[in-house]
Amino acid sequence: MAVRVHALTRSGGVAAFVVGGLTFAAGTIGSALLLLAFFISSVALSRAGKARKRALVDIGKAGARDAWQVLANGGVATAALMGWVFLDHGAAASAWFVAFAGAYAAATADTWGTEIGTLAAKPPRSILTGKPLATGLSGGVSAPGTAAEVAGAVLIAILTPLALLLALPGTPVTLHVLTSLMLPVFAGGFGGALIDSLLGATLQERRWCPACQRECEVDQHGCGTATEHRRGLPWLTNDAVNFAATAAGAAIAGGGWSLLR
Ligand SMILES: [Zn+2]
Repeated sequence: MAVRVHALTRSGGVAAFVVGGLTFAAGTIGSALLLLAFFISSVALSRAGKARKRALVDIGKAGARDAWQVLANGGVATAALMGWVFLDHGAAASAWFVAFAGAYAAATADTWGTEIGTLAAKPPRSILTGKPLATGLSGGVSAPGTAAEVAGAVLIAILTPLALLLALPGTPVTLHVLTSLMLPVFAGGFGGALIDSLLGATLQERRWCPACQRECEVDQHGCGTATEHRRGLPWLTNDAVNFAATAAGAAIAGGGWSLLR
């Protein structure tokens, strides 16, 4: 369905089928709930305010997601979920399950921040220097974008106890269990999005389109022109930064849960 409505390319559809299949096999509708919350909300937001999303097209962040983008957002979460199944044998008390939720919290927070931030009237500012940046460029922050990051992290945090309960019916859900699940997942979500912005402002590769005379983040610009490396690490693409952000989200959530449990 996602390929049909151009939310995913064909390769993205294959990757999403693998990620989704493993996720559903690991925790049935419980673990799939977090994947769907991330994916459906991201596709819906990417369709809101299409005219202004022109900015994301210019940067190279728009359009159907390919396999690399699917794995950048869902790879860490799926690996953590496999850790839950094979290392912790699907136990109720597992840092792996919380890490899985934290990875999707980071992916959701970051995606909501980008999509909502793009709709803001004022241009975003660099998280490091405070200088105005082209809308959609990595490393830029705005008040609406940051509020959206918080909201995205909150959504996944609130759904995490429900996901665990659906994956493992009969799990005792005390107030302590609720807080020790939700707080680390929220922290992982917001922390992951923050790391995404920091990497975007510092080490992430930035390219230059000579035809349009503007910065972008893709090898071939939307106009069809080949782009030149301008600054940053040439291998640290937007996908690599998303992967790092979800890994940070997973580590913060799993670690935080281990401290609070
Ligand atoms: Zn161009």
